[in-house]
Amino acid sequence: MSKLMDFIPFAVKNLFSRPATSKYPFEPREYPQRSRGHIEVVIDECIFCGSCQRKCPSDAITVDRSKHMWSINRMGCVQCGYCVDNCPKNCLNILPGYTSPTLSKTVDEYIKQVEETPARGKLKNDMGKCVFCTLCAKKCPAGAITVARIEKKWECD
Ligand code: SF4
Ligand code: SF4
Repeated sequence: MSKLMDFIPFAVKNLFSRPATSKYPFEPREYPQRSRGHIEVVIDECIFCGSCQRKCPSDAITVDRSKHMWSINRMGCVQCGYCVDNCPKNCLNILPGYTSPTLSKTVDEYIKQVEETPARGKLKNDMGKCVFCTLCAKKCPAGAITVARIEKKWECD
C-alpha cells in the first residue's frame, strides 16, 4: 500500500508534464549539429574525378564520368567521411538527418546537366621540355598520368 502511495505523485506529475519522447514522424526530428546522417553531393561542382569512389571503404559510391552521374548506395555508406575529406572540389558534405527507411536497397543517383563541348583532343607532352618532376601525376584528379623519372617515361591514360 505504501508503495502505491509513493507512486501516485509520480503518476500525477507525469500526467501534467511534457512527454519525454517526440511525436515522430508527425513532428520533425531535430538532429544534433555534428551528427553524421548522410552524404550530400553538390553535383554541379563535381568533376567526376572518381577520388571519392576510390577512397570509399565500403564501395558505396559509383562515379560514371561518361554519363556525368554520381551515385551512392545509401545502405552501404557507413558515414566515415573519407569521401568528404578526399574530394578535391569540396562538393561532398556529411549532413545531419538520416535517409528515409525503405524496404529495398536505395541507390541515389545525381546527374549533372552539362552542355556538350567539342572534344579537346589528346593531351600531349613535349618530351623535350619535360623534367619528369611528377607534378602533373600528383595533381591529376583522375590519376591518369604515370611518370617514371628514372626511365624518363611519361604516360597518360
Ligand atoms: S562516408 Fe565513407 S562509406 Fe559513406 S560514401 Fe563516403 S567514403 Fe563511402
Ligand atoms: S571526389 Fe568530389 S569531384 Fe571527385 S567524383 Fe567525387 S564528388 Fe566528384
